[in-house]
Amino acid sequence: MNDCLFCKIIAGEIPSAKVYENEDVLAFRDINPQAPVHILVIPKTHIDGAGSITPENAASVAKCFVAISEIARQEKLSGGFRVISNCGEDAGQTVKHLHFHILAGVKMGEGML
Ligand code: 5GP
Ligand code: ZN
Repeated sequence: MNDCLFCKIIAGEIPSAKVYENEDVLAFRDINPQAPVHILVIPKTHIDGAGSITPENAASVAKCFVAISEIARQEKLSGGFRVISNCGEDAGQTVKHLHFHILAGVKMGEGML
């Protein structure tokens, strides 16, 4: 059985504050927001992370980015937003299901990026 937290959210076994959903993509608010707007965008098919994207599953990733663009309009992120995907231990990935953080609502420093 799949023990993945985000697969459980997709299955509705764990509740989430959904902001967007279609056949291929789910987006919901991060439980521990790091910015006034902090949304997680995930493909409904399980991919471990950015290091596991292949020609075979790349369409799911593209659909996430179409969703990100639609969410930005829906949430009126006209001031801009940042998209981050942590992959692996050094990057601090804690959930091993590919996800894209949308961060917005604050002027972001240059920091790592
Ligand atoms: P990562 O650290 O892997 O890049 O990001 C995982 C994110 O998932 C974190 O920002 C964390 O706050 C969020 N998260 C972990 N568990 C849950 C949960 O049960 N619900 C929601 N909405 N977010 C979660
Ligand atoms: Zn998963």
